[in-house]
Amino acid sequence: MEEQSIRVEESRSRKEKPNSDELIFGRHFTDHMFVMDYTEGLGWHNASIVPYQNLSISPAAMVFHYGQSVFEGLKAFRGQNGDIQLFRPKKNVQRLNRSNERLVIPPIDEDFGLEAIKRLVEMDKDWVPDAEGTSLYIRPFIISNEPYLGVAPSHHFKFVIILSPVGSYYKEGIDPVKIAVENKYVRAVKGGTGEAKTGGNYASALKAQEIVEKEGYSQVLWLDGVEKKYIEEVGSMNVFFKINGEVVTPVLNGSILSGITRDSVIQLLKHWDVPVSERRISMEEVYEAHQNGTLEEAFGSGTAAVISPIGELYWEGHHLTINNGKTGEISKKVYDTITGIQYGKIEDSFNWLVKVGKKTEVKQKSLKKSITSLS
Ligand SMILES: *Cc1c(COP(=O)(O)O)cnc(C)c1O
Repeated sequence: MEEQSIRVEESRSRKEKPNSDELIFGRHFTDHMFVMDYTEGLGWHNASIVPYQNLSISPAAMVFHYGQSVFEGLKAFRGQNGDIQLFRPKKNVQRLNRSNERLVIPPIDEDFGLEAIKRLVEMDKDWVPDAEGTSLYIRPFIISNEPYLGVAPSHHFKFVIILSPVGSYYKEGIDPVKIAVENKYVRAVKGGTGEAKTGGNYASALKAQEIVEKEGYSQVLWLDGVEKKYIEEVGSMNVFFKINGEVVTPVLNGSILSGITRDSVIQLLKHWDVPVSERRISMEEVYEAHQNGTLEEAFGSGTAAVISPIGELYWEGHHLTINNGKTGEISKKVYDTITGIQYGKIEDSFNWLVKVGKKTEVKQKSLKKSITSLS
């Protein structure tokens, strides 16, 4: 089977770019998008970069009814020397394939997927904002688009990548949030889809978030779906606690999403010789630590905010104030280091950055493999 490259159709008109200080997350989109189709028997094909436009999809497309879809989220940054760089993008492509596996979506060629991201960002590189803390958010996703109402895996899919310039997450400096521990609803259970980045997980989380927002909390802390005892995630971020000098994050147990920021935080802490452990941690333990004064810091981690310190936890009638509601030392250090690397202010000693615009021609390989690995 022959190799494929990316067909490019340039947009004839260019949109006006929003000002850096008016960027709202996920509201503005660039001039181009990447699309690729999957048809059983043919594999992934028709890889193209085309003008940003609406998709034409049958109302019977399976994604609308049974939610067979996956997505990713990563960012491109304008470095100090003007280079456009991605943060650990290969990890996102690999995770996309793990999500695919769980949702019975055929895998993509990972090198080709990364190449698609790089080519698209290169094409719309003028959209990467340059103000402090801004970036270009990259949203790859796959939907099942076979028109069929039967409950079965689809035979047709569409892979799309869109780009959205985003403003600084922290306009007035990194700022701790109030979090309510969720005792009624659960995000995911072991054996479910919590490990996959799929829209359904988000749909089922909206209710709890809506309730706590009305009560003045910005997010919920999710507990395990069986005993509602062990901590899993915070909102759509991974979560860390610093207790008596040790940083603890819930071990990946099958219902927690494996965050790339989470992995980066762990690597940094190990590099700094800060004790860090991935293990089960109960809300009871966090409460005890708060009561005896050893709960030093708590923070969420994810691509959007990088680090989101937790200033207060509400649990069963108790308001637990953490670090006087201020950003902790480790939270700040991790935040400054990761963002420093992303914007090229700190040496990338972990080799996390991938530059965009280096001329490499990666063609889509092994179409056959992606077909046979389906069966
Ligand atoms: C995407 C996501 C995260 C964070 O992952 P990053 O790779 O760090 O952005 C954490 N939890 C959930 C549920 C997510 O969907």
